[in-house]
Amino acid sequence: MAFSEERQQSLDKRMNQIMAIILPLLEAAGLGYATYVLIYLVCIHYLINPAADTGLEPRRATGIALLVVYCVLLLLFCLAFLRLLQVISTNPGVVPRGNPSSEKHSASTKPFDRLDAYICDYQGFPIWCNKCHNWKPDRTHHSSQLGRCVRRMDHFCPYAGGIISQTTHKFFVQFLFYGFLYTGYVLIVIAVFFAERSRKMHSKPATWIVLIALAALFFLFTFGMFMTTFYQLAINRTTVEEMGKHDVHNIALLGRSPASSTTSSNQSNIVCEVQRSPSRSYIVLQTQPGDNPWDVHWKQNIQSIMGNRVIDWFNPLKISPCLNRNDSEGEFAWGIAVRNLMEEYGAGSAYGRSRRSHRRRKSRSVSIPS
Ligand SMILES: [Zn+2]
Repeated sequence: MAFSEERQQSLDKRMNQIMAIILPLLEAAGLGYATYVLIYLVCIHYLINPAADTGLEPRRATGIALLVVYCVLLLLFCLAFLRLLQVISTNPGVVPRGNPSSEKHSASTKPFDRLDAYICDYQGFPIWCNKCHNWKPDRTHHSSQLGRCVRRMDHFCPYAGGIISQTTHKFFVQFLFYGFLYTGYVLIVIAVFFAERSRKMHSKPATWIVLIALAALFFLFTFGMFMTTFYQLAINRTTVEEMGKHDVHNIALLGRSPASSTTSSNQSNIVCEVQRSPSRSYIVLQTQPGDNPWDVHWKQNIQSIMGNRVIDWFNPLKISPCLNRNDSEGEFAWGIAVRNLMEEYGAGSAYGRSRRSHRRRKSRSVSIPS
């Protein structure tokens, strides 16, 4: 069973690698074909400079305007694609490999101990990757394609030949956005002039029909993918997380169990308690099945990947704000479900806040002479 699973994974990996080479080549061929038909056959030979025997009047302004818009959309689409390829190849968002001799129970949890909350197992340990010999930061998934853990991994995209992750998701959305604008434009232009040509000249060239079919196919694909991806951004759930959306999550929250603190709460949901250092202990709680720990609000969810201002959403140079996050509250902003748990148990950032304000009060009372 394990052998056949391994074999299947290896076959899938090989297939994806082959597709990752073939699909970009097909895309390039498709762009070349669309450019030839739309610029040369439609704009130049049909609109700007029609043959005398066709009886058509030249329509230079229309031809040039359509040609310019086509070139702008093609350029934007190509730039988005190249930017996506560049980020995929230079910074796919992988987690460093640990020492091969590292073991879960002896590895240092230091990067997690500064956090108010993190996803953990039933013993309160962060999630461990046996293949990378390292801890998985929240939302990390081990990619069999790369053989590495990838932060906020979404999926392997054969069209771009790489992983869609925390670092590449924004550029993938831009690629899809300009993809559906470009293919939608090609589809409308070619369909309108094909209808006109068949009406006026009773001619239906096969080259035009092929482009209509290709443009319709890729428009439906890119538009569908764009809507799905944007929806997933709005609910802050990756494709990997979507597959386990009914799962419960164990979350380690900074704090002490209600029995030993002043907060009165129900202890039945506490999985365990972990003492990380004399001053830092965590209680482990479970979310309800279907709760998304990172669903803050649709607007903030989108902004965390696309950018804080709408203009940043279109900027191919700016990286996602979640990559600049350096907040001790957690690897990512916590959603309502987790915030409710924090308030209910006086733990996590609620506990961190009260400890921080207590420390501030203490330091002020020391500095003021009585
Ligand atoms: Zn891994």
